Amino acid sequence: MRHSELRRGCGQHGRFRVGATIPLLATVAVLSMAIVATVAQAAEPAKKIVLVAGTPSHGSGEHEFNAGVLLLKSCLDRVPDVKCEAYHGGWPKDADALATADSILLYMDGGGGHPLLKADHLARMRALMDRGVGLVCVHYAVEIPKERGGPELTDWIGGYYETGYSINPHWVAQFKALPDHPIARGVKPFSIRDEWYFNIRFRPELAGVVPILKATPPDDVRRTPAAAEHPGREEIVAWAVERPDGGRGFGFTGGHFHANWGDDYFRKIVLNALVWAAHGEVPPEGVASRVEPAALKQNLDPKGK
Ligand SMILES: [Zn+2]
Repeated sequence: MRHSELRRGCGQHGRFRVGATIPLLATVAVLSMAIVATVAQAAEPAKKIVLVAGTPSHGSGEHEFNAGVLLLKSCLDRVPDVKCEAYHGGWPKDADALATADSILLYMDGGGGHPLLKADHLARMRALMDRGVGLVCVHYAVEIPKERGGPELTDWIGGYYETGYSINPHWVAQFKALPDHPIARGVKPFSIRDEWYFNIRFRPELAGVVPILKATPPDDVRRTPAAAEHPGREEIVAWAVERPDGGRGFGFTGGHFHANWGDDYFRKIVLNALVWAAHGEVPPEGVASRVEPAALKQNLDPKGK
């Protein structure tokens, strides 16, 4: 746009020899505006979102971490002011891959084999969290041992799946209301079957935890003694926190079935969360994205099933 205006200005300059100073001034003005606009853009650099996928697990169409991450990346690549990088295999081999991230997504098998617990990853992540980097953990990535990793995820995202306390059944969650929060922008009530973990070990008194998705599971899936203590209770299956240091965290317990990324609201919540956690501005209608059915067949891990 600006280039064509400049070209028009130059053309007028050639035709009107006597009044040459006026087009020249106009050209200078346009150039100045362009410089001002460039400076304004430079003041708000793109948010860098780094997505990390775990190694293959489960059957085909389940825990498709790599395909899920690449699908989310394809959506984020269309978002203005966002720069997205994706890694797979459990942790980036490049030790500096996370160093300049504004927010990080972990979508991987957790528990005792959580990649956060390997090598120096926990310490490296702690340094990033101390710097205010956002952290988004999806599905199995919210499960981690309570002795090691549990306290850290409690600090960073507000809670974690504690083995023997939390529970991981498959059920249809009916989300009947959404909160007034940037992560819920553009999302209306919806219903979807997933392995929605619940009875998450949250911070005491839910300090700082903002529920984003809540639904009431059937009582017969409350299969831990701790979960069985609350028949009929509405459970939090996605939540946000803002840490005292300004960093933001988000936990989302769905994501078992790859096909669920085809649901516009399911996907929008995670995309919104990644932008929000990066301290980006979530649009009024949320992050717009479109996923064709064929895209859900791409990048699946070769699982031989
Ligand atoms: Zn699962």
